Amino acid sequence: MTNRRKFLKNASLMAATGVLAAKSASAATVSAISESNASKNFGLQIYSLTVGERRGDREFSSDVPAGLRKIAQLGYSSIELAGYNTEGRIGAVPIADFKKHADAAGLKILSSHVGLPVRGGWNRASFEQASDTWKRACDHHASIGCKYIFQPGEPPMNSVEDVNSVGEVLNEAGKIAKAAGLSFGFHNHQGEFQRVVPRGRSKVPNPWLWGSLPEGAKVIFDGMVESTDPSLVCFELDVYWTVIGVNDPVALLKKYPERIRVLHIKDVGVLGESGMMNFQKIFETAYANGIQDFFVELEGNTTGTQFEGVKGCADYLLNASFVK
Ligand code: MG
Repeated sequence: MTNRRKFLKNASLMAATGVLAAKSASAATVSAISESNASKNFGLQIYSLTVGERRGDREFSSDVPAGLRKIAQLGYSSIELAGYNTEGRIGAVPIADFKKHADAAGLKILSSHVGLPVRGGWNRASFEQASDTWKRACDHHASIGCKYIFQPGEPPMNSVEDVNSVGEVLNEAGKIAKAAGLSFGFHNHQGEFQRVVPRGRSKVPNPWLWGSLPEGAKVIFDGMVESTDPSLVCFELDVYWTVIGVNDPVALLKKYPERIRVLHIKDVGVLGESGMMNFQKIFETAYANGIQDFFVELEGNTTGTQFEGVKGCADYLLNASFVK
């Protein structure tokens, strides 16, 4: 609350001096606002804004510099990119320009979601054929001072062997990222909490539907942790998709304190509204594990624009006494 009070005080001071009377605030003004407001440590996955394009909400992508200033104003201190393409752009914006705009807004670019080049399938040979593409992506992100690069989507995994093959690809990708100076990792959805068996051809139905588990059944997420090298691959736990996968993010944080290094803070819609996410316990456990990097993610906001939803998420975290 102190932070918000400080922000409001600064805002009213600027209003009193006529600074806010200008039709559009200058970058310096917005930067001053964001500096006073971004005193908690949480970031935004920018997909939370670009996802709105599907229904015509182009507020962010039509003016990226202004969009980044707005993110900072709302209280976010960093961003995680989405939309990288191999020409070195984030959406339509060259990555070096994106970095300049983020700097001007006072936002750190800490992370990026980039799909691995595995068009021939999730095996080492396929990845090695396209590893130059991955190296270029890592170099682009290293050039803007990014800290992490994450595989965002779930590979097809229907057997224990599939999981191990994916693990090999992730290790190879991690080697290239590490050589470029980045930490590489994997971002989960709910499917990784299903089980597979050796030589299986499909995922095993969950036991509360099936009644019992076949021999050798393994939770995919556990298999991914075990088949990857801790010095090459970390995990960005999406706490919402973990719950949708009928698992407890707090239990996973306690089970894998060294492997889960970043969190996606997500709910059904705006944070805290559903009541189904125990964010207090999640943050307390993450802090106890030494986790420093948190990214809010909002998918389709059905009750307003994406920016309105992203503001609601920031307000929830700024007002939450358990968020530092
Ligand atoms: Mg996520």
